[in-house]
Amino acid sequence: MDTYQHILLAVDYSEHGGTVARRAKNLAEKYQAKLSLIHVLDNIPMPDTGYGTVISLIEDSGYELLEAEKAKLMQIGDQLDVAQNNRWMVWGGPKQEIVQLAEREQVDLIVVGSHGRHGLSLLLGSTANSVLHYAKCDVMAIRLLDA
Ligand code: AMP
Repeated sequence: MDTYQHILLAVDYSEHGGTVARRAKNLAEKYQAKLSLIHVLDNIPMPDTGYGTVISLIEDSGYELLEAEKAKLMQIGDQLDVAQNNRWMVWGGPKQEIVQLAEREQVDLIVVGSHGRHGLSLLLGSTANSVLHYAKCDVMAIRLLDA
């Protein structure tokens, strides 16, 4: 394959996110590919919203923490000019949800950040490493330099 049609950027709202986002955006422009965003909610308790695990970005949940997470995704989506229905927020584990959404949405390139690892964190494995193992499409891991 010499081109990509659908690129999925995984955003975790970390301080390095901008670097990863710019690379994904540049690639999408270069290949004239559709760009989608995913943020996985793995650190706030799931309220009884009736949504299921895929969060609606349009309705107000009345749940402050969730609305704050949505607002961050919307801001990144606006900055990168990502279409509203290509922005995804899902409850679960990032390692599984990123791969699953990529398959479901027929993504052909996933872009994630990758930190240098050591100690326990190396043992537990990174999101990038897991996505690389399980994804059926190409994966680009953007090396993040920790301060
Ligand atoms: P980590 O392995 O947790 O250091 O994360 C490395 C990269 O995985 C990040 O730069 C993101 O691209 C992706 N990632 C990690 N956590 C999430 C999350 N909750 N939602 C979406 N992407 C994530």
